[in-house]
Amino acid sequence: MYNSVIPYDDGELCRIMKNASQKSDHVLEAIFSVLHWIFLLTAVWIYFGYYQSPQTQSSFVLLLCGCTAYMALIQVILFKGNLESKTFYIVTRLGVILDVVAVTLLLTLTGDACSPMFPIYYFIILHAAVYWGLRGGILSSVLLAACYSAVLLGSSAASMHDHAADIGMNFICLLLMGVGGGIVVARGRKHLGEKSRFEQMAKHDYLTGLSNRRRFQGKLKELVHSGGKLALVMGDIDWFKSVNDRYGHLVGDQVLREVAAMLYRTFNAEHGGKAYRYGGEEFAITMRTDSHEEVHKRLAMFQEELSKLTFTAEEGQSFQVTMSFGFTFFDNHTVADLIKEADESLYEAKRQGRNCVVCLTCDV
Ligand code: GH3
Ligand code: MG
Ligand code: MG
Repeated sequence: MYNSVIPYDDGELCRIMKNASQKSDHVLEAIFSVLHWIFLLTAVWIYFGYYQSPQTQSSFVLLLCGCTAYMALIQVILFKGNLESKTFYIVTRLGVILDVVAVTLLLTLTGDACSPMFPIYYFIILHAAVYWGLRGGILSSVLLAACYSAVLLGSSAASMHDHAADIGMNFICLLLMGVGGGIVVARGRKHLGEKSRFEQMAKHDYLTGLSNRRRFQGKLKELVHSGGKLALVMGDIDWFKSVNDRYGHLVGDQVLREVAAMLYRTFNAEHGGKAYRYGGEEFAITMRTDSHEEVHKRLAMFQEELSKLTFTAEEGQSFQVTMSFGFTFFDNHTVADLIKEADESLYEAKRQGRNCVVCLTCDV
C-alpha cells in the first residue's frame, strides 16, 4: 500500500552513504594524483641527478612517458568528475596495479633494492587500502614485498650484503604498513560512512522519511536570514486521534507515511518548496512565494488529492482523512513569530470546522 517516494528509506540511506564514499574517493584520487606528479618530478631529479647512465636512459624516458600519459588521463577523468562512471572506477583501480609495476621498474633504474624511491611503495599500499580496505592493504604489501624480492634478485650480491639491514627493514616496514595502513584507512572509511548515516538520521523523521523538526528549524532560520519571498504553512491531520483509536496505531502510522509521501510529491518538487514533519500529525511546508492565491490553490489541490486517497484497515474497513492548513508570509518576522502566525491560522482552520485553508494575515 505504501509507496515511498521520500528519499529516506534504507535503500536511500545506502545511496547517500555510497555518494559520500564516492565523493571521498574523488577527493582522495585528487590527492593521490598530485602525489603522482610530485613523485614523477622527484624521480626525474633522482634519476638524472644520481643514476643516469647511457644503458638505462631510454628505459627511464619510456617509463616517464608512459607514466605521464597515464597521469594525464587520470587528470582528465578527475576533471570531468563523473564519479559513477565505469571508466573512473576501472582507471583508478587499475592505476594501483600500474603504480606497482611503474615504481618497481623505477627501483631497478635508481639503485635497485637500495633505491631512494622505495618509500613510494608505502603510498601504493595506502592507495590500495583506500579502495579495498584492510584486505587491499595486506594484499598490496605482500605483492610489493614480492616485487621488492624480484628487484633484490637483480641486485649484486655485494650491495645486498652491504645493505642487508636496510633491506630487511624495508621488508618489515612494507608488511607493517600493509596491516597498519590498511586498518587506519579502513576505519577512517567506516567512520565516514557512519557519519553520513548519522547526519541523515539526525535530519530526517524515522517514520515518514520527511525532513524533521530539527531540519525545519535550521532551514527556516536560513530562509528568514536570506530574506525574499517566503510562505510558511502549518498543516494538521483532522481527527487523527480517532483514527488511532478506531484502527490502531499501526494503521495510524501508515496514514502518516502516506500523507507525508503525498506532501513530499506535491510540495518538494516545485518552486523551492519543502515539506517537513513538524511533530505528531503536524506538518510544515515552506514555499518561495508571496502569492496568497498560489499557496491557497496548491493547498486546495492537495486537499482534493487527499480526498481521493483511501486507507484500508486490517479488518478491511476503508476510510479517508482530511487536513487543515494555516499559513502566513514572511514579513521581517523572527522565526518564532512566523511559526506563531502560521499556527494561529491553523487553529482558526480547526475552529472553522477543519478540512480548510486559512490565512489570518492575508489581506483578502
Ligand atoms: P484535530 O483535528 O483537532 O487535530 O484532532 P486530532 O485528533 O488530530 O488531534 P489530537 O492532538 O487530539 O491527536 C493527535 C494524535 O496524533 C494523538 C497521537 O496519538 C497521534 N500521534 C502523534 N504522533 C503519532 C505517530 O507517530 N503515530 C501514530 N499512529 N499516532 C500519532
Ligand atoms: Mg490533528
Ligand atoms: Mg495536532
